[in-house]
Amino acid sequence: MKKTRSKSGKIKAVYPGSFDPVTRGHIDVARRAIFVFDEVVIAVINNPSKKTRFSVGERISMLKKSLAAEGLGKIRVDSFEGLLAHYMKTIKAGIIVRGLRAVSDFEYEFQMALMNRELAPDIETVFFMTDAKYAYLSSSIVKEVASLGGDVSSAVPAAAAALLRKQK
Ligand code: ADP
Repeated sequence: MKKTRSKSGKIKAVYPGSFDPVTRGHIDVARRAIFVFDEVVIAVINNPSKKTRFSVGERISMLKKSLAAEGLGKIRVDSFEGLLAHYMKTIKAGIIVRGLRAVSDFEYEFQMALMNRELAPDIETVFFMTDAKYAYLSSSIVKEVASLGGDVSSAVPAAAAALLRKQK
């Protein structure tokens, strides 16, 4: 029997990712997740060997501001290093949340979900389909358009748009 619920009967979910930067697609998935689970923690991956445009501190700050602006302040933001399965055990969370856009996400997500199940059979991965209007959105396309001077305000929350403009 899986121990998805805490002793108090609550279900805590973790939405891990790079969020480099957060997009409206990420916020859409987080909103769907908090609709279903009692607690949601967005966990920013702190992987020193992966080059990111924004520091962990900047990514956390963008996420916190964006969630507050969307009335989603109930969602906590944290960061972690190393294995997700280990982090989940430390904070006693039983669900991994990931977002799916197109079929192209499937293979990678499938591989990761099965690997995480191998590492931690008690943890379940749950996928949310993004709103169709965000299906084409990715952090990398946002960074590319912003670096070329394009307006990305429809793709990212205001806090992310401001930082992208500043760091062009
Ligand atoms: P990672 O480096 O772990 O893939 P990302 O920040 O790129 O981190 O993505 C985190 C999660 O959010 C992934 O499950 C990804 O598929 C999902 N995601 C990214 N962009 C969107 C979007 N526009 N709509 C829904 N889900 C998305």
